[in-house]
Amino acid sequence: ATTRTPLMAGNWKMNLDHHEAIALVQKLAWTLQDAKHDYAEVEVVVVPPFTDIRSVQTLVDGDKLEIRYGAQDISAHASGAYTGEISAAMLAKLGVSYVVVGHSERREHHGEDDALVGAKAKAALDGSMTPIICVGEGLDVRQAGDHVRYTLAQVDGAYDGLDADQAARTVIAYEPVWAIGTGEVATPEDAQEVCAAIRGRLAEKYGEDLAQALRILYGGSVKSSNVASIMAQGDVDGALVGGASLQAEEFASIVRYRQ
Ligand code: PEP
Repeated sequence: ATTRTPLMAGNWKMNLDHHEAIALVQKLAWTLQDAKHDYAEVEVVVVPPFTDIRSVQTLVDGDKLEIRYGAQDISAHASGAYTGEISAAMLAKLGVSYVVVGHSERREHHGEDDALVGAKAKAALDGSMTPIICVGEGLDVRQAGDHVRYTLAQVDGAYDGLDADQAARTVIAYEPVWAIGTGEVATPEDAQEVCAAIRGRLAEKYGEDLAQALRILYGGSVKSSNVASIMAQGDVDGALVGGASLQAEEFASIVRYRQ
């Protein structure tokens, strides 16, 4: 993982209004600066709800913060009669760098399948943003020992319509569903097993060089106390962090996992 820039992305889910968002991003920036840590070597991304993005943009631009921000979802459609949806152009206009697509909560509660996840990834790419494509198995699949096959099938589905140029501009997050928001963390070896398999599959599809350059994140109850052992794995290049990203000091400690 040495040549890939580590990426720590905080998925706030449906938490924090725009005032609280500003307070959290300010505190995060202060905490990172206070420690005089050169956090430029780790890419730091916050992923707030849509309604906070404009406020986060104003703060990040105004204070020239070394923090990027993302969106938690995107419409697969470019524009038109899609009430309630948010387009790539709208997000790009707000300076959004990353878009989470196919989070397990959207797959579960909104019926998103691999084809839709792939279409959303394409929409983000068409808007010059980086999709963070989420994959990962549920508990039943894990217990049946079928987690690698299941997760690679999701990778196949999501990347089906992406050519090499597009695939090269993606990030993948392996998030075993049983570890999300449960306090149950995959062991570093479990994370490595699947992340390595994902990289192998992408090498088959797009070639070894492309696969070696792609960043693969682990997500599922990552905290400051377990991040270092997960990041020590050769194919884990960062983390998608839910609950622990809502506290500035805790998320800053995750960003500074090397210390
Ligand atoms: C997530 O929402 O992607 C996630 C991994 O959540 P948590 O860290 O709370 O398990």
